[in-house]
Order: sequence, then C-alpha cells, then structure tokens
Amino acid sequence: MRKHALMTCYDGRVDDIVNDLIAGIRNNGELLGKSIYRPAGGIHVLLGKSECRKAFYEMLTALRDIAGIDVFHLFPHTNCRYCGLNFSEKLGNGTRSDLRFHVQSAERMLLGLNHHFDRIGGAKPAFDVRIILTTDQRIVTIEEAQQLLPDIPADREHGHTCCLSACRTD
Ligand SMILES: [Zn+2]
Repeated sequence: MRKHALMTCYDGRVDDIVNDLIAGIRNNGELLGKSIYRPAGGIHVLLGKSECRKAFYEMLTALRDIAGIDVFHLFPHTNCRYCGLNFSEKLGNGTRSDLRFHVQSAERMLLGLNHHFDRIGGAKPAFDVRIILTTDQRIVTIEEAQQLLPDIPADREHGHTCCLSACRTD
C-alpha cells in the first residue's frame, strides 16, 4: 500500500474539497493524520522564500526516508490570502485571475522537486500537483489549468517572487 502525504492551505474555503481528497486517497492508500499539512498559505508559505525552500525539500526528504512516504499531493489554491499579503495581484479576484501565477509556480515547484530528488538519489516519490479553484470548488490539473489560461489576459503581471524565483535550481 502506498504511503501518501498531503499539503495544502489552512484556508477554510477549501475544507470540503480537501476532505473529499483525503477520503479518496484513503480508499487506495495510507494517509495518516500526521501526514496532512495545512499551514496558512499552504505550499507557498513552505517554499515561497529561498530559505524556506531548502527546509521544504528537507521535510519532503525526511518524509520519504523516515516515514516512507512515496506519494506527495501538493495542492495550491487560487485566491490564497497568503499570496495576496504582499502581492495583491496574486490574490486574484476570487475566480481565476491568479491562475497563471499558480500554474507557473506549480511548474517551477515540480522542476525544483525533481531536481532535488535527482540530485540526492534514491527512489523518487510521485508528485501529484494540482490546483484548487477556490471559488469554483473544483480541482484542475496543471494541464487543465493551462487550457483555462487563454481566457485570462496574458499581460497580467504577477511579479516574480514567491515560487517563481524560489524554485529556480541553484
Ligand atoms: Zn491559502
């Protein structure tokens, strides 16, 4: 049975969707309560800054090596208040206007994670990275999110901090 960990945001607006996710994962694998992480800001607070990013990698590595986790579910969500704290353009308008930021940061997070686990060697965990559309109350894959993007003005500027710069490989 595969061992899972889930990381997403503390935000109560995603509670229902996260509870469904947890139930779904538990139908096919082990997801212990202590393997569910929901800090305020979710994955963005865990890896949004370069000093956090190393701790994030270290945490996932320890979960792999000590807890035997081999599937990580990493779920950012749109309209995240943490992302809007310093960069209001990342908060969006409650629908999908900040989706491009989440797509880009999710892609960079995947690149960074793959680079990290390639570098340290050993069995590479599986990464399930999808985006919760908070207002729509549904989850989309990165590919599905990209399909939604043409509807969003491409020139929308989301800045370049948080995961965008944080997940650069060294
Ligand atoms: Zn949030």
